[in-house]
Amino acid sequence: MRSESFTPAFVEYIPRAPEPHTLYISESFAITAHLCACGCGTKVFLPLSPAEWRIEDREAGVTLRPSVGNWDFPCRSHYFITRGRVEWARAWDRERVETARRSDERDLESYFRSRERVGFWRRLWRRLSQRP
Ligand SMILES: [Zn+2]
Repeated sequence: MRSESFTPAFVEYIPRAPEPHTLYISESFAITAHLCACGCGTKVFLPLSPAEWRIEDREAGVTLRPSVGNWDFPCRSHYFITRGRVEWARAWDRERVETARRSDERDLESYFRSRERVGFWRRLWRRLSQRP
């Protein structure tokens, strides 16, 4: 099911079975997680830091910046979460994705740090979901 809105949930650990429409925010681990807004069921982990993603939680709703670009997933969806609402953006073409990647890599240190953190959560999630 496609999500048109997200509510923030401040947690320590990202839950094993995340709910749709929920943007999980773990300040202790500086990471957010949500189910892809397109409804494909992919868990999207985004690291929080000034060089990565930022969260603004206001009464009007939660805002996540920059946009969520799920290029590595089959759905390739691209959207913004603004004041709790999903704003769909156009899927980027390959060239645009590469340009964005290159500019991300400019800050190499934070780039690799974020990859490690996201890798850790993906591995943990996989391990937990394999349990009987
Ligand atoms: Zn998706």
